[in-house]
Amino acid sequence: MEDPDCIFCKIAKGQIPSAKVYESNDVLAFLDISPANKGHCLVIPKRHFETLTDMPDIELAALSAAVKKVALSVYTSLKADGFNIFMNNKKAAGQIVPHAHFHIVPRFKDDGISFDWPHRKYGEGELEEYAGKIKVK
Ligand SMILES: [Zn+2]
Repeated sequence: MEDPDCIFCKIAKGQIPSAKVYESNDVLAFLDISPANKGHCLVIPKRHFETLTDMPDIELAALSAAVKKVALSVYTSLKADGFNIFMNNKKAAGQIVPHAHFHIVPRFKDDGISFDWPHRKYGEGELEEYAGKIKVK
C-alpha cells in the first residue's frame, strides 16, 4: 500500500515541504500549489490510499471531519462567498496524484470558475434501470 514514489506520501512525511493549514495524527491539509483560487486546499489521509473507496470507514470519517474544519476555516478566514469540495477518483475522473485527496476551493461572486457538465436526459425506463443497477445492497 505504501508507495515510496508517491508525492503526497512524501508531503505527509515532511520529506517535501508544504504550506500546512491543518494536521492531525491521520490527516494533513495544505495549499494546492496551482490553485483554482488562492486558498485552494488539499486534504489527504497520511496513509496511502488511492481512492475514497479504498479507505477504511474510520479513516474516512477522520478525513471527512478534517475536510469540514478546513472548509469552514477557508470560508471564514478568506471571507469567501462560498466554497466547493470535490474529489477526483481514478484517472478517468481527473485524478492526477493517485493518493486520495479532497479539494476545497474558496469561491467568490463572479470569480469566473465554472464546473459545467452536460445535463443529459434519461430515456423511457432508464431512470428505474440505473437506480436498480446502483442500488446499494
Ligand atoms: Zn501516497
